[in-house]
Amino acid sequence: MTARMYYDNDIDPAALEGQLVAIIGYGSQGHAHALNLRDSGLDVVVGLAEGSKSRDLAEAAQLRVASVAEAVADADVVMLLVPDTAQKGVYEKDIEPNLRPGQLLMFAHGFNIRFARIRPPASVDVGMVAPKGPGHLLRSVYSAGGGVPALFAIEQDASGSARDRVLAYARGLGSTRAGVLETTFKEETETDLFGEQALLCGGVSALIKAAFETLVEAGYQPELAYFETMHELKLIVDLMYRGGLNFMRFSVSDTAEFGDYVSGPRVAEGVKATMKDVLTDIQSGAFADRWIAVQEAGGGEFRELRQRDRDHQIEKVGADLRAQMPFLDPVVVHAGEAQATVGGASSAEAGDAGAATATQPSTSRTAG
Ligand code: NAD
Ligand code: MG
Repeated sequence: MTARMYYDNDIDPAALEGQLVAIIGYGSQGHAHALNLRDSGLDVVVGLAEGSKSRDLAEAAQLRVASVAEAVADADVVMLLVPDTAQKGVYEKDIEPNLRPGQLLMFAHGFNIRFARIRPPASVDVGMVAPKGPGHLLRSVYSAGGGVPALFAIEQDASGSARDRVLAYARGLGSTRAGVLETTFKEETETDLFGEQALLCGGVSALIKAAFETLVEAGYQPELAYFETMHELKLIVDLMYRGGLNFMRFSVSDTAEFGDYVSGPRVAEGVKATMKDVLTDIQSGAFADRWIAVQEAGGGEFRELRQRDRDHQIEKVGADLRAQMPFLDPVVVHAGEAQATVGGASSAEAGDAGAATATQPSTSRTAG
C-alpha cells in the first residue's frame, strides 16, 4: 500500500481565508510558522508571555504581537508552539479560558494530546501539522522556494472544516511543496518518541560511546578512536542518506562489507527485543509518566544525566579535534548553555538567517 501524499494542488487555501492564525511562542518552530504563513498571505498574530524576550524579534519581523490570552481570543486557529513541557501550563492559564466553539487548536507534536496532558473541549477542532525538520530549516527552505515535508492529523472535527483548515495550514507553511502525509496523534507521538530513543538520539549515541570506550579501554589512542567512531559515522550516514545501505556497501571496501554482515548482527544481538521494550514503555505511557515526574520534581535527574554525558571523554577529545577543522563549523556547548538558549531569541535569529552558529546549539535540534 502506498500512502497518500498531499501536494499544493490537492489543497484549497480558501479554507483559511479571512481567518486569523495565532502562533503561540516564537522559538524554533514558532518563528518559522509565523513568517511562512504570513508570507503565504495568511493573517497572523504572535501570542507571547508578558516580558517575553522574543517580542522584539517578532515585531522587528513586522508581525503583530499580543498576549497569549488576547491572541487566542481574537484568533480562529491557535497553534501551540511553546516547548512540550510548558504546553500544559500555558494551555490551562491562557488558552483554555479563551477558547470558543469552532476554533481550531493545533500542535506540531502530539505528546500533550496523546498522553492526555491537555484535554480540549469537544466544541473545538484539534489538529496537527508536524514538520519533519528543525524550525530554522522550515523557514530557510521556504524562503528559498521549497518546503519541509510534514505529517498532519485530525483529532477532533467539531466544525466539519478541521481537515480542510489543517491542510490549508500545511500549505501556508510550504510543506505541501514537498508533500504531507496523514497520521494520527497516537502514531506521530509514539513513532517520534521511539525513533529518537531507540535509534536517532539514544541508540546511536550509545553505540558511539560503546565503540569509543571499547577501543580506548583496549589501549588505543583516544584521538584515533574518535575519528574511527563519531567522525566517520557522519561520512557513512551521508552515503545511506543518498542511496540507502546498498550505496554505503557499494562505497566501502569488500572487507568492510563482509565485516558488516558477520559482525553487525553480533553487535545488535538482542537489540530488537530491547527496542520492543522501549516501544512498550512509550505505548503504555510509562515513559511519559516518568518524564513528567522528573520535571515535576524539579528536573534534577535530567540535569544529572545531561551533565554525566557532557563530561564523557569522547566529548573532550572530540571538541579539541573539531577545533582544528573549522570547515566543520564546529560548535562547543558548555554545561547549562543548551538549556539557556533553547528557543528564545537566539534560535529565532539564527533560524531566520538559516544557519546555526557556534553559540546557538538549539537551532540544530532535529528530533522532537
Ligand atoms: P522552543 O524550545 O524553540 O520554544 C518555543 C517558544 O516557547 C520560545 O519562544 C520560548 O521563549 C517559549 N517558552 C519557553 N518556555 C515557556 C514557558 N514556560 N511559557 C511560555 N512560553 C515559553 O520550542 P520548539 O522546539 O519550537 O517546539 C515547539 C513545538 O514544536 C513542540 O511541540 C515541539 O515538539 C514541536 N516541534 C519542534 C521541532 C524542532 O525542530 N524544534 C520540530 C518538530 C516539532
Ligand atoms: Mg522526530
